[in-house]
Amino acid sequence: MSKVVVLTGAGGVLCSTLAKALAEQGHKIAVLDLKIEAAEQVAKEIEAAGGTAMGVVANVLEKASLEDAKSKINAAYGSVDILVNGAGGNHPLGTTSNPFLEEEDLKNTTEGFKTFFDLDTKGIEFVFNLNFIGTLLPTQVFAKDMIGKKGCSVLNISSMNAFTPLTKIPAYSGAKAAVSNFTQWLSVHFSKVGIRVNALAPGFFLTDQNRTLLTNTDGSLTQRGQQIIDQTPMGRYGVPEDLISTTLYLCDDASSFVTGVVIPIDGGFSAYSGV
Ligand code: NAD
Repeated sequence: MSKVVVLTGAGGVLCSTLAKALAEQGHKIAVLDLKIEAAEQVAKEIEAAGGTAMGVVANVLEKASLEDAKSKINAAYGSVDILVNGAGGNHPLGTTSNPFLEEEDLKNTTEGFKTFFDLDTKGIEFVFNLNFIGTLLPTQVFAKDMIGKKGCSVLNISSMNAFTPLTKIPAYSGAKAAVSNFTQWLSVHFSKVGIRVNALAPGFFLTDQNRTLLTNTDGSLTQRGQQIIDQTPMGRYGVPEDLISTTLYLCDDASSFVTGVVIPIDGGFSAYSGV
């Protein structure tokens, strides 16, 4: 059955792939992004492949912007059935320079060097807002359409670091832990109105956001990039297509009794103790 699917952050690497895969199922796709050109480009590619899609500008941190996007989607496609909360990411101001604090770090005067004590609350707030409020607000706006209908669901995007925090990124780890927790909370809250709420927890995917952290200019892996591969039993990074089958399953009635789960798609990273 054709559904109306809204994806936020769908001008980006992972969710543009999910948008295209959902379009191939015959769903009508609203590609939302802060960057309208990126959203329109993805919509154009879907239409060129024979699908139905519209690019819509929306800021997941502004309710009025989301309401405006919803009016356009409702007018074009009708009420929303599926929401994928894909917008998210990290910020350098919420990131420490080193994984472990050493006494001499406190004397390091290198420009831009940051210990835990230098973390800027502006950076922490940015990351918490983008990942957590940026999941909650679109759900407030779009899930209202789902009340009283069948086959509706919300899919959030958490991360590996929600299970065990990664070094250097306390804000992003905490924010994604909040997304996982919220997924469970909302699945219970929405259980009587028939809206299922689940999440993907992607492992490590080489994307624009982390490419400079994980690879050198010659394409070889940085120390952190190699550490990730060493900790991933399958020995490779994920590719966006690895997320497709779980997304289709969680957005489909095939998972009609599944709600409140956070599924790792991580090549075994979260199952491996390293020994
Ligand atoms: P990406 O940067 O390619 O895509 C994110 C998109 O969100 C961008 O197009 C950006 O313009 C948009 N965006 C940013 N702020 C926005 C806002 N306020 N309102 C609307 N849109 C906004 O990132 P990605 O790698 O495709 O990540 C997608 C999701 O997956 C994110 O939630 C990310 O945290 C999560 N994730 C990524 C990885 C990975 O390895 N790349 C791993 C785990 C989880």
